Formats: sequence, C-alpha cells, structure tokens
Amino acid sequence: MVNKILIANRGEIALRIIRACKELGLTTVAIHSEADATTLYVKKADEACLVGPGPLAGYLNIYRIIDLAKQRGADAIHPGYGFLAENADFAKACEDAGITFIGPNSNAIMAMGDKIRARKIAKEVGVPIVPGTDSIPSVDSAAGAAKDIGYPVMLKASAGGGGRGLRICRDEKDLRRLLPIAMSEAKKAFGDDSIFLEKYIEEPHHIEFQIVADRYGNVIHLGERDCSIQRRHQKLIEIAPSLLLDEETRNRMGEAAIRISKAVNYDNVGTIEFLVDRQKNFYFIEMNTRIQVEHTITEEVTGIDIVQTMIRIAAGEPLEIRQDDVKINGYAIECRINAEDPMNSFLPVTGRVTGYYSPGGPGVRIDGNVYRGYTIPPYYDSLLAKLTVKGRTWQEAVKRMHRCLSEYVIRGVKTTIPFYKKVMEDEKFIKGEFSTSYIDERLEQLSYICERDPADLVLAISAAIAAHSRT
Ligand code: ADP
Ligand code: ADP
Ligand code: MG
Repeated sequence: MVNKILIANRGEIALRIIRACKELGLTTVAIHSEADATTLYVKKADEACLVGPGPLAGYLNIYRIIDLAKQRGADAIHPGYGFLAENADFAKACEDAGITFIGPNSNAIMAMGDKIRARKIAKEVGVPIVPGTDSIPSVDSAAGAAKDIGYPVMLKASAGGGGRGLRICRDEKDLRRLLPIAMSEAKKAFGDDSIFLEKYIEEPHHIEFQIVADRYGNVIHLGERDCSIQRRHQKLIEIAPSLLLDEETRNRMGEAAIRISKAVNYDNVGTIEFLVDRQKNFYFIEMNTRIQVEHTITEEVTGIDIVQTMIRIAAGEPLEIRQDDVKINGYAIECRINAEDPMNSFLPVTGRVTGYYSPGGPGVRIDGNVYRGYTIPPYYDSLLAKLTVKGRTWQEAVKRMHRCLSEYVIRGVKTTIPFYKKVMEDEKFIKGEFSTSYIDERLEQLSYICERDPADLVLAISAAIAAHSRT
C-alpha cells in the first residue's frame, strides 16, 4: 500500500510528481534546500522539510532522506530523475527500511547503471550494440582496439550520464591525448574511472523506447521518442513518434527493448536508448532506469500517465493494459525551456525572472517551476520549464509549437525560446531531416538577430535615467 510519498527531488519533476499524487489522492512530502525553500513545488506539496543547509548535499543524502520519510510517516519515496534516481544503494536502503522505492528493484539499477555491463546484457539477448570494447586497461590497448574498430571512435565513461564523460577521437593522436583526461574526469564525476570505446556513428538519430514493466513479468513499451536535437550530447527538443522509423523497424526495436528489460527482471518504467544510422540499423547504447525528462510527449500521444503508472506498479498493481492496447495518437513535441544563452554556446545563466506569461490554448502543456519573481539558483540544472504540444499531424504540432513559443514570455533572463522558434521555422527540421549533429550544423544558419523585447528596452532606459539622476 502507498498512501504518503516523499519526493526526493526538486524543481519541475517534483511538481510533476505532486500533480500525479493529487489525482491519485495521495499525500506528498517535499524536501528542499535553503535555496529552494520558497519555490513553487515546496508550496504545492502537502508537507515540506528542509533536507540540508547546503544547496546540493541534502538531495544526495540517502540516510537523511530515509530518516525524514520515517519521521513524516511516508511509506514510499519517488526519486525523480538525476540526484539519487539511478543509485542502486538508495533503492536498496529504501527496500531495507521497508519504504517502497518508486522505481525498479536495486539489482536492475545496478545491472544497467554500468554501461559496459548493460552492453553485455543486450548482446546476450541478441540486441545489436555499437561496435566497441570492454573497459580499456591502457592507452596502448585502446589505440589497438580503435585501429580495429576504425576511427572516429568515442570514449565513454561506463558510469557516465547526463551527456558527461563522452569524447570523440578522430585519430590516434586525439585518443592518446583524451583518454587520460576522460579517465580522471570520470573518476571525479562518477567515482569510477572505467572507460570504454565505441565506434562513433556519424549523424545518427537518438531513438529511445519507453518501457513499462510490472512486478509479475509483464513488459510492454509505449512507443518511441526521437531525441536527436541535442547540444553537448544533452537533449533539447524531443518528438514522438519518430518521423524516421517504418513500422517494421519500430516493431523490431520495441521488441528488442522488451527483451533487454526482461533480461534484468525490470519492474517499473524505464527507457532503452538506441542510435539509428542512415541505413536504419539500430544499436543499443544504454538504459535509463528512471522517469525521463521527456516522458511528457509519450504521455501526450498515448494518453497514459507515466508517473501514476510508476506509483501503481511500485504499490504492487499488475499492468492494466497489454501491448495491443497501446495506441499512438498524433504527434507531440517537447522543448526544454532552459535558462541558457543560445548565442553563447548555450551557457547557463542565472538571475531573476521579472516577467512571466505562459502560452495556452488547445494541445498545450507546461511542466515547470518558474513564475514572475523566481530567482534561478546557480546550483542546479538550467531547466525552467518543459513546453509540450500535441497535434493530430506533425505539421500541426510544429505550427502549434511555433505559436506557443511566440506567446511565451520570460523576462529578466536569457532562455532557449528564441532559438526554438527558429528551429520550428527551419525547413530541415520540418522535413524531419535532422540527426544528433543538427545543432552543430545548423546553429549558424539559425542564428537570429537578437529580437529585443521592447519591455526590456524600457527597463534599460529607466535604469540609465535613474543612474544618471543619482550622479
Ligand atoms: P533525460 O534528459 O533523457 O531524462 P539525461 O541523461 O539528460 O536524461 O538525465 C536527466 C537528468 O539526470 C539530468 O539532470 C542529468 O544531469 C541527470 N543525470 C543523468 N545521469 C546522471 C549521472 N550518472 N550522474 C549525475 N546526474 C545524472
Ligand atoms: P548519457 O548516459 O550521457 O546519456 P549516452 O550513451 O546515452 O550517454 O549518449 C548520449 C548522446 O551521445 C547520444 O544521444 C548521442 O547523441 C551521443 N552518442 C553516444 N554514443 C555515441 C556513438 N557511439 N556514436 C555517436 N554518438 C554517440
Ligand atoms: Mg543517454
């Protein structure tokens, strides 16, 4: 039984989980740092507690979080994404404390948390993986392996995630220079310096399948998402379904994703990520054993609430639907509205939101933790809100997204909104002609003359007058 859920996360995903709980009639407990104390998700939760004075340590403090859950009488914990979401020790500590972890069992997290182990599992069940190596013991053996695979190759941290720990090597010189750097970075970021090599696939699509598995061995998928529009190997825009896949490839990929999940006795929602090359060959790259940022587009095209599904599965309910019941309806697009400057390498910015007006109308959804007066703390990721739209056709979805981006007003900080507007006008994007190299290739063509907001101009002029009168 699950009645009261502690949310071990912050920001938009904490709010998303609170919304799911409210509809299910469940009580929520938010945790927060001092920096997050007055923010939206904390106000919307039924209860809230300070998890630590520092901005980050609290959200990662397994024992403090479990203690708080016990103190507040919470019988389950939802980890969200990032932080402790893919931490097998955390899932195990919840299991040991008799608290339901809303995610898969700790063994499945452990098996898939390590990319090298995950590759082995996929291979064992006959799913193609990117040609590559196991953990590489030395620079010389890496150079030998890379010669066999053929350049370019990619260095990857086995424990990596969030687009970090990845390096492209075009030749042996690159490899010899980058490997030691990659190792020390992986050690620092993930506490594990295992690095492996993969063939670098040129201009692939990133296509991932949403898995849903209950505790009784039933596993289905909710179709795919194309997440090829990325910068720094991190996703910015996602679409569902993919414009690239034909029905036959889609079925084979979905079936492969289910086979991998079954191999680790997976038992909650998860995502199997693939790269798809120009010939539509697909290769497994990793599994994310948690809710994904971009789950919203799958919810929009399937009508299934994925967060509520997570809670039901964790509470021991069997799946209510079978594969044949999953129907994909229309097209959905998500744009991650980040506090970043697209004209300056998408560098994160901080500051205070001085004006906020969100789009509305048919087919529009916003998942955010931003409002007028919100001060963006410098400690966390730059995601302010997720704008998701749905249309009956791809063209309708693109037009709708463009309309919503035009309506969206966020003043006081730079955001990715103007950049996305240009993408929605780009012929290549509209035709579905994009790969993971899209932003690198198109950024210059899409560069826009900075459209100045007249209200910002008024503010600047007032500030100048005020400064002048003071002197
Ligand atoms: P997606 O965005 O597709 O859900 P990401 O891999 O971009 O998946 O990760 C989502 C969030 O989880 C980001 O905030 C990212 O920084 C964080 N994250 C993912 N993996 C790790 C990891 N191994 N260590 C720390 N943070 C991670
Ligand atoms: P993370 O755990 O950081 O999400 P992934 O293995 O999922 O790492 O890779 C993140 C992104 O990096 C992919 O979506 C893709 O754009 C790129 N990438 C990863 N592996 C390869 C590869 N072998 N060839 C080309 N691009 C790759
Ligand atoms: Mg990934």
